[in-house]
Amino acid sequence: MWGREPTILLIDGQSFYASVEKAAHPAYRDMPVAVGDPERRSGIILAACPIAKAGGVTTAERVGEAIAKCPNLMVIRPRMQTYISISLFITAIYESFTDLVEPYSIDEQFLDVTGSLSGGENAESLARRIQAKVLLSTGVWSRVGIGPSKILAKMATDNFAKKRPDGIFKLGRGNIETELWPLPVEQMFMVGSRMAYHFHRMGLPTIGDVARTDLGELKRKMRREMGRQSDIQAEYYWQTARGIDPSPVVASTRGTLQSISHGKALRANLYRKLPDIEVVLLELVIEVCRRARRLGKQGRVVSVGAVETDGRRTFSFGRQTTLPYATSLTHEVAEAARRLFVTHWRGMPISRLFISLTELSGDDTYQLTLFEDRPKIYSLERAADSIKDRFGDAALIRASSLLEAGVARERAAQIGGHYR
Ligand SMILES: [Mg+2]
Repeated sequence: MWGREPTILLIDGQSFYASVEKAAHPAYRDMPVAVGDPERRSGIILAACPIAKAGGVTTAERVGEAIAKCPNLMVIRPRMQTYISISLFITAIYESFTDLVEPYSIDEQFLDVTGSLSGGENAESLARRIQAKVLLSTGVWSRVGIGPSKILAKMATDNFAKKRPDGIFKLGRGNIETELWPLPVEQMFMVGSRMAYHFHRMGLPTIGDVARTDLGELKRKMRREMGRQSDIQAEYYWQTARGIDPSPVVASTRGTLQSISHGKALRANLYRKLPDIEVVLLELVIEVCRRARRLGKQGRVVSVGAVETDGRRTFSFGRQTTLPYATSLTHEVAEAARRLFVTHWRGMPISRLFISLTELSGDDTYQLTLFEDRPKIYSLERAADSIKDRFGDAALIRASSLLEAGVARERAAQIGGHYR
């Protein structure tokens, strides 16, 4: 996978709240259903199923207006807690395909599946499998946009996948000019009616018009149209039109019990040498193991994810290894994580690192016999946990024993240089 572009999905649940309600009420299957307060005609429709939409109902209109257009509309009171639970459940389904899942809204989530496409499966086929699993488990139909960046995945969903019967569309280098660029500029992500008005006045009515304008020229045009502070916006729109978006999919640290994970964004220019990266790797492992012990868990599968960038190109990888036994011991997880990292790192500066421990089991069953000193180390680590709990991270410079002596303290100061 050296040099391979990332494969990112943005998966959107169709008419999410309404779909959840239809799944909960099979009797309404062939009826127009909307979610809103049935007792308040001036209230807002939060979601409408496709049958209701075909009957003219739109989201964000008033309940009274919707019923006037579609008299047999079933208006169901929203149950937000249920929708949140189902959204979390869908996240868990995605996490069975990749560790890198980033919720974007209650019904939209980004997945980085670059590391999941082994064995020659293409992204569309993986998307179909995810779609089927979510439909079967929740009754929600998903639309999947595929792209090499988050921004292209998002525009693939909004502009194409949602309009297709199969609900899947891929935007990439090969078709961005023929598919995305002819669209009116208002279809570009984050372009509202005010911004669209400005683009039209600047003589840039399509997404391609923005993309094909030289960046310096676009900045000049926007300064003339909107004032001096518009340079950053100009750059943002220009990159969006070209599908450029270096931001990685960042897994939530919500910590479902399927996995215990921790990740960090780094200043890539500081993290180009292995010893420096190892400090962060170890720091993440310490945190994951500490959380695992606190939850009374240990795991057999250690995963490492990283985003590398040389300022122009960005690559990411996510790899995992299965240990012969479950563990929550720092040095065991650290050793596995380090091996994974060293094997798969391309050698470019690192802008994000991610560690997770999965296939969790209770830690009351750990192998006493095979590894005689494990219980002892385990209780030492527990003692360290309580020191850290009481006195904070600085007390854990003992991590230096895993690094070259003396260098750790100096590097520990750099850890403060991360941003989250
Ligand atoms: Mg949706």
